Order: sequence, then C-alpha cells, then structure tokens
Amino acid sequence: MKDIDFYRKELSEFSKRAFNRGLVGGTGGNLSVRIPETDTVLVTPTAISLGDVQPEENILVNLHGEVLDSPLGLKGSKETGFHLAAYQLRADIGAIAHVHPPYSTAFSNKGKPLPLVTVSARVNLKHVPCIECFLPGSAELRNCVIEGIRSNPEVPCILMKEHGILAMGRDLKHAFYIADLTEDTAKIAYIEATIPTVSY
Ligand SMILES: [Zn+2]
Repeated sequence: MKDIDFYRKELSEFSKRAFNRGLVGGTGGNLSVRIPETDTVLVTPTAISLGDVQPEENILVNLHGEVLDSPLGLKGSKETGFHLAAYQLRADIGAIAHVHPPYSTAFSNKGKPLPLVTVSARVNLKHVPCIECFLPGSAELRNCVIEGIRSNPEVPCILMKEHGILAMGRDLKHAFYIADLTEDTAKIAYIEATIPTVSY
C-alpha cells in the first residue's frame, strides 16, 4: 500500500495541474483524496492557491471532519464538509476536484444541466445536473450538495450555480479528467452557440 506521503504529493500535483489548466483562479477551489481502505481523507488547505499547495500543507481528516494530521498547523478548506459528505454517500468516489472553471460556471448560472454537445461528453459524463446557489462554506451549500448527489447517485460531475463544479472520480487523476472534460464540453457548447446558423 502507498504511504501517506505519496498521496500528499499526488494531491499537490493535481492541485497544481488544475490551477495551471485554468480550472480555478486565486485561492478558490479545493481537491481531496480518500486514503484507500481507511476512513480518512486528505484535503487541500484554505487560503492557499491550488497552484502553490505543498505536500506537507495538505490536511488529513476523518470522515467526521476531525483533523488527524496537519504538519504545518493549517486549516482544511472551508468546503471540507461537502467533500466528506460526498465520500460518505458514495463508496465509489476516491477523489474530488471542486474548481471554478469559467465556461462551466457560466453555464451553471442558467440553473440547468450542462449541454453534453460531444459524443465523448455523453459517454464519459452521462449527465451533469445543476444545484442551487448558497454561500461558499455554508451548511446550506453542504446540504444542497448532499441533496444533489442523492438525487443523481451515479453522475461524475455536478454544476454548482454561480460557483463552479464538483467533479468526482475513482482517484485524483480521474477526478481531474472529469473536471477538465466538463470545462472543455462547456467551452465547445459556448462556441457552438455563437456560430450563426448559415448554410455551408
Ligand atoms: Zn468553490
């Protein structure tokens, strides 16, 4: 079994990839990974850009949110609550990427599911529903995420109105791919909508 340091490094690596890919800006967004065969989760810290997160800055918590290990004494993301709720509701989820990608977030403001405009999106995303808007870090947002997952038990991604997306995968690489594909799909849907109807 891989040790905790492997997951600390992996979480920082995918956080950086999400930032560099433009899936999130500023200090927004948060990623987490479930440590296999345990009831523990590593989550990125609050108030640090995903582009800068160092392995030792990630925080180990149990599924109740109690901090088990934070080598630098940092606090976990304020969205830790909905990450943990998602892990409790779905045993198949091994990692979560909550990011604020511009095109997906713009579509979320419509309050409707993301238009799946490519074959790849339909095959890999199946359905991307949209949940309501609540303040980041609030109990209301956590409850809304719980309701969204309960009503859509198998979807890999959910749009969060006026906020961003919740991408869920088997592992960090998979969660990152889901987030990336969701944003690419939103971008293509936007471009398609701007092409005038003309006969070629
Ligand atoms: Zn957020």
